[in-house]
Amino acid sequence: MARKGKPLVDDMVAVATPIPATPRLQQELKETLQRLRLGGPFYVLLWALAGWAGNLWAHTPGAFVTIGLCFIALAVARFRVRGLPEDAVETKVHSRLNAIWSLLLANAAVWGGAAAWLLLVAPDESARTVAAVSTYAFATAFAHNFPMRLRYALLGIALIYLPTLAAFILVGSRIELVAVSALYLLYVTLALRRSHVEYLQRLDLEDELRRQRDLFEQQSRRDGLTGLANRRRFASVIEQAVAATYRGGDALVLMILDLDHFKVINDSHGHATGDTCLRGFSAQLLRTFDKPNEMVARLGGEEFAVLIPGQALEAAVHRAEAFRIDLSSTQQELDEESSLSLAVSIGVAAFDPARHVDTDAFYRDADAALYRAKALGRNRVCTPADIAP
Ligand code: GH3
Ligand code: MG
Ligand code: MG
Repeated sequence: MARKGKPLVDDMVAVATPIPATPRLQQELKETLQRLRLGGPFYVLLWALAGWAGNLWAHTPGAFVTIGLCFIALAVARFRVRGLPEDAVETKVHSRLNAIWSLLLANAAVWGGAAAWLLLVAPDESARTVAAVSTYAFATAFAHNFPMRLRYALLGIALIYLPTLAAFILVGSRIELVAVSALYLLYVTLALRRSHVEYLQRLDLEDELRRQRDLFEQQSRRDGLTGLANRRRFASVIEQAVAATYRGGDALVLMILDLDHFKVINDSHGHATGDTCLRGFSAQLLRTFDKPNEMVARLGGEEFAVLIPGQALEAAVHRAEAFRIDLSSTQQELDEESSLSLAVSIGVAAFDPARHVDTDAFYRDADAALYRAKALGRNRVCTPADIAP
C-alpha cells in the first residue's frame, strides 16, 4: 500500500529485493499458458465454418478475410507466448500472466464482434446457427479452461457472449431464443464460479502437499531436538566428502564429540535440563564450526560430529582444543538462578587414502581417538597418534 512521506527502510528493501514467484503462481502461469496455446486454432476453424455455411466469401469477402486473418494472427500470437524459468521473479510472472489475459480478452472481443456482425449480415440461417452455437461453445470452454482469475474470465465470457445476445435482440429473434440464450449465459457464469472455487481448492491442496513434502524432507535430514543435521544426513555428506577427497586429494577432517558424564546431568537435574544442555552445546558447536563447507551433526544421544573439508589435522585439532576450553568455561543457563558447565571429549582424524579404504575406516579412526580421550580421563582432544601401537 502506498504511504505518504518518507519511505520506511523495509519498503526500500522490498523494492530493492526481487521476490521469486511462489510455486502456486508458477503453476497458474503454466496452466494458463497451456490452455492459451490450445484455443487459438478453434476460432480460426469455426470462423471458416461459419463463413462457408453463410457463403460470406461471396457476399462480403473483404470483411470475412480481414476477420479470418485477425483470428489467424491471434492464434499465432497465442502460440508464441513463452513460459518462464522456475526461478523467475514474481513481477515477471505477473506481467506474463497479464499479457496472456490481454490476448485472451482480445480474442474474446474479436469473436464477440465477428459473431454479432455475422448474425446481423448473414443471409443464411445455417451461418447464423454456426455463429450462435460457436459462441455458446466458446463461452463454455472459457468457463472451464480459464477459471484462474474470476473477473477476467467473466469479462472474457461477456465479450464473447453479449454481442451475440444483443444481435439476437436487434434482428428481432423470437423471445424464446433470446430467453434461452440469456439462461445459458447464466449457467455458464455459474459454471465459471464453480470452476474457479474448485481451481482454488486444488491449488490450496497442492500447496499443502508441497508444504508437507518440504517438512518431511527437512525432518528426514534434521535432528528434532537441536536442529542440527541428523545421522542419516551426516552419513550421506561424509560419503560424498570422502569420494571427493579420493578424486581431488584435498584434506578432510572428522571430529567426533561426546559429552562427558552426561548421564549424571540427566540424573541430577532431570531430562529436560539435559535437553537444554544439548541445545546449548549444539548452538555453541554451530557458532564455532560455521564455515559454509563445514558440517555439524548430531549422531545420536550426546554424541556429535563435525566434518571439515580443506583443513589440515593440526589446524583442526587446534580448533577442537579451543572449542573444548571455551565450552568448559561457558555456563549453560538452565533457568534464571542456575547454570552448569559441560565437558566434552573429542576424537579428531584426518582422512588418509593410504590407510582408509572406505568411510567406515575413516570413521573408526576418529571414534578410536574419542575412545582414547575418554580412557585418558575425558575433557580432552585426541588423535589416532595418541593411541599406543
Ligand atoms: P561418558 O563420559 O562415558 O560419555 O559418560 P556419559 O554419561 O556421557 O555416557 P553414557 O553413554 O553413559 O550416557 C549418555 C546419556 O545421554 C544417557 C542418556 O540418558 C543421555 N541422553 C541421550 N540422549 C538424550 C537426549 O536426547 N536428551 C537427554 N536429556 N539425554 C539424553
Ligand atoms: Mg557421554
Ligand atoms: Mg555417548
